[in-house]
Amino acid sequence: MVVQTQRDDATWYECEDCGLLFDDQSDAQEHEEHCDAEGPSYIQ
Ligand SMILES: [Zn+2]
Repeated sequence: MVVQTQRDDATWYECEDCGLLFDDQSDAQEHEEHCDAEGPSYIQ
């Protein structure tokens, strides 16, 4: 899942699966579709 996040007065898009940040929503969504980092161990 891709979530929006605010950082340095800019909007970023974060892949919830692996934590990668993107400045473009379509890039984030395309990554997320191919991200296989399911169930990251660092989630509380
Ligand atoms: Zn990812």
